[in-house]
Amino acid sequence: MTDVTLHDTLCALTLTLVLTGPRMVLNTRPLITTPLIPYPMALIVQKYGGTSVGSVERIGAVADRVARFKSEGHDMVVVVSAMSGETNRLMGLAKEIQKNPAPRELDALLSTGEKVTTALLSMALGERAVRAKSFSANQVGILTDSAHNKARIQDIRAEALQAELEVGGVPVVAGFQGVDVQGNVTTLGRGGSDTTAVALAAALKADECQIYTDVDGVYTTDPRMVDGAKRLDQITFEEMLEMSSMGSKVLQIRSVEFAGKYKVPLRVLSSFEGGPGTLITTEEDTSMEAPVIAGIAFNRDEAKLTVVGVPDNPGIAYRILGPVGEANIEVDVILQNSRGENSTDFTFTVARGDMEAAAEVLTPVVTELGAGEVLTDDHIAKVSVVGVGMRSHSGVAATMFKALADVGVNIQMISTSEIKISVIIEEKFLELAVRSLHSAFGLDTVED
Ligand code: ADP
Ligand code: ASP
Ligand code: MG
Repeated sequence: MTDVTLHDTLCALTLTLVLTGPRMVLNTRPLITTPLIPYPMALIVQKYGGTSVGSVERIGAVADRVARFKSEGHDMVVVVSAMSGETNRLMGLAKEIQKNPAPRELDALLSTGEKVTTALLSMALGERAVRAKSFSANQVGILTDSAHNKARIQDIRAEALQAELEVGGVPVVAGFQGVDVQGNVTTLGRGGSDTTAVALAAALKADECQIYTDVDGVYTTDPRMVDGAKRLDQITFEEMLEMSSMGSKVLQIRSVEFAGKYKVPLRVLSSFEGGPGTLITTEEDTSMEAPVIAGIAFNRDEAKLTVVGVPDNPGIAYRILGPVGEANIEVDVILQNSRGENSTDFTFTVARGDMEAAAEVLTPVVTELGAGEVLTDDHIAKVSVVGVGMRSHSGVAATMFKALADVGVNIQMISTSEIKISVIIEEKFLELAVRSLHSAFGLDTVED
């Protein structure tokens, strides 16, 4: 009789633990008290980057946070990157075997890093009595084109995730990977887990997409470069798009494009500390105090090619850049100055890894055009100032060029858009240039 009662009591207790498990387990753990999402029962997609899942302890901390959100009543979908350093390690192994591995095989290899973290996090959630299930891109139905290593998401089948949400589970999805129509695994380009998260948030119509990383938001510039960089409470999609495309790797550019297009509320936060992070928003700060410049971005991944002595005729830009484009090489900044003489120089920049290929493509073109030679330089970098305030304020370019002149940095090329000015400079001056511009635009944190 006693045994039966004890057995019954244990069963009842187990049942209670299962039903209320997350809450009970969580009560024994430290909680971050301020809710980011002020309303109950939201659908939240959270993405955790490499350092946020870089060890078993970090994965445990992620599981604690997910469990807490779940216990607060939210529906949760989690996207994870590979553990920090893992994608580079796998890439290194491939390169030891083959200089240019087949893109399909590289994707088959690189996508394994994310699979590991989905399984480990699901286990960590299980350990906290949260029902969780790992999903590969194939199991979700994240359909991409077949452009291996830089595939684009074309469609997301949300049914499998929705079914899991309906039974109260937490789907843990592998970021960075997709599947093409032939069933091949593809990857979305470095940093692509951000895009997976935003695309899932769009497909599921989530209330917010939270990108957890190793900094507590988007800063006026990379806080690893400038100590006095400030966290922004918010930044517009337009500005974030320029910051990302000009080199700020805190968000992959395509994730910002997606979020803007599908109106996904997007927030960047730290997985290491609390705080509100940075909200990427459509709202522009139109107050008088709004800063003209939101931030300063930089990119070392630049190389310059100059075709010397090309005829100064119509069609030259096309004859030079046409073959470069056909070789799938993206051109960034372009400079041509017509002096009204017979010949001129034509300069443009590409990603550093594409410099040699671009020079090779141009060899026959130079002969055809009767031009001089192709000069290459991979010791350059690009610095950009970004801000929607530029539309209504003049003098931004003057402030930028004066700041660079004051520290003796020579500008090699300039390109502008409505909300950005970029300059190409010698790489060795990059830090100096970024710091000077950060001060010149009044972005430095004022020490109390
Ligand atoms: P994750 O692995 O979480 O995806 P990433 O390394 O891709 O993280 O992105 C976070 C890093 O982005 C930061 O550690 C920081 O050095 C860098 N970064 C560059 N520009 C900025 C910026 N403007 N604000 C915040 N972080 C930036
Ligand atoms: N693991 C991939 C990378 O290192 C994708 C990501 O982290 O977003 O680029
Ligand atoms: Mg990243």
